[in-house]
Amino acid sequence: MLRAVETHPVLVIGGGISGLAFAWHAARAGQAPLVLEASGRLGGCLDSRRGPADYWFELGAHTLYNSYGALLEIAEGCPTPPTIVARGDARKRFGLLRAGGLTTMGPLSVFRQFGFWELVTSAPRGLFGGKGPRTIREHFSRLVGARNYAGVLAPFLSAVPSQAVDDFPASGPGSLFKKRPRRKDVTKSFTFAGGVGAIATAITGAGVAARLDAPVATIARADGGYRVELADGTALAATRLGVATDPATAARLLAGVHPEVAAAAAALKTVEVESIGVVVERAAVALPPVAFVVPADDVFWSVVTRDPVPDEHHRAFTFHFKPGVDRAARLRRIGEVLGVEADRLLTIEERRTTLPAPARDHAAAVAAIDQALAGLPLALLGNYFAGLAIEDCAARAKAEWARLAGATT
Ligand SMILES: Cc1cc2nc3c(=O)[nH]c(=O)nc-3n(C[C@H](O)[C@H](O)[C@H](O)COP(=O)(O)OP(=O)(O)OC[C@H]3O[C@@H](n4cnc5c(N)ncnc54)[C@H](O)[C@@H]3O)c2cc1C
Repeated sequence: MLRAVETHPVLVIGGGISGLAFAWHAARAGQAPLVLEASGRLGGCLDSRRGPADYWFELGAHTLYNSYGALLEIAEGCPTPPTIVARGDARKRFGLLRAGGLTTMGPLSVFRQFGFWELVTSAPRGLFGGKGPRTIREHFSRLVGARNYAGVLAPFLSAVPSQAVDDFPASGPGSLFKKRPRRKDVTKSFTFAGGVGAIATAITGAGVAARLDAPVATIARADGGYRVELADGTALAATRLGVATDPATAARLLAGVHPEVAAAAAALKTVEVESIGVVVERAAVALPPVAFVVPADDVFWSVVTRDPVPDEHHRAFTFHFKPGVDRAARLRRIGEVLGVEADRLLTIEERRTTLPAPARDHAAAVAAIDQALAGLPLALLGNYFAGLAIEDCAARAKAEWARLAGATT
């Protein structure tokens, strides 16, 4: 028996910030969007969890900046905007875990970790000639010396995207470094009341409908637009379609309908990050307040804390692990680093994330996707274009909506 096909002006596959931001622009343009999300919650990598007494902590993204103009436009444009909460003094402190010992420091102390002679002999060469088409390892090895890069800088830079950054491009699409205008009227570094995930709730209050536990299984062309089918067989159709999943899923869904777009997305590399967040009583951990802990060499890339938004009773620590270590060993390592017994962990929350791993040729890979998309009523969204930051996702969503709507902004 043929099922009826629901039709919508705009369908969006994936309810992370990329899909939600795209849907927000569609809703603002009066094109009622429906977001189809595979999991049971919206937000994707924006994953604010709850511990005891409604204490919140982040399993994924944690920090927003006043340079996030595209995100702020959305937040401020919601009927019930999320409340901006400035991050406190602990944001300027971090821990370096090396040879079993933990040193806490501020950003400038990183320079004191460098070998002096290597730094002064490398800097003159590295300061000239720009970043060019170099990778992060090539650029910073020239600037501070290969040993200083590998022993000091690489662990700090790798803590940001939870993966080795050696082969990331040093500039352009996929790079970690972006110059964006700052909003003077907004505090420099912030989160939202209840955590970054509050933006997802605000967006759903702005005319964005969402269906949870709705994994999309197939996409086909129909009547100049698209027809998508959910894993349970439900069929939906739309004039415009946004695909806001990881690149491998986008490639799989689009293989039959737009093979060039699918091939370009499939060429992008990704990594898996496994994160475990724990909540403990404040008095149980001796570590002074820090925004994060970076190990020189360990089974995890970083520990992100909630200390920049302190709480009287609790602290939270989210460990972002490298692959290949079992859960029991991870929990053991968490206990060792924090100096707490397993029975002092009040809450344990876990997530697995697929993240893009941009390489030297990332700009060309992104250009190939955009070329293949030209003229189609299909938007490809995500953290694998300009970069991984939430702002990169929101800016891509805005630009893709403008393209599909035929707007000139
Ligand atoms: C640990 C961590 C910390 C980070 N910290 C920061 C930070 O502090 N600041 C910052 O700016 N950025 C940070 N980032 C980066 C940023 O959070 C992410 O790059 C961004 O949120 C990704 O959003 P997205 O919507 O593109 O993808 P995702 O958030 O991954 O969302 C994709 C969504 O698509 C859904 N989906 C997949 N397949 C299907 C399907 N077939 N059908 C329907 N739905 C599907 C998924 O369930 C998911 O919800 C961090 C990332 C991580 C992992």
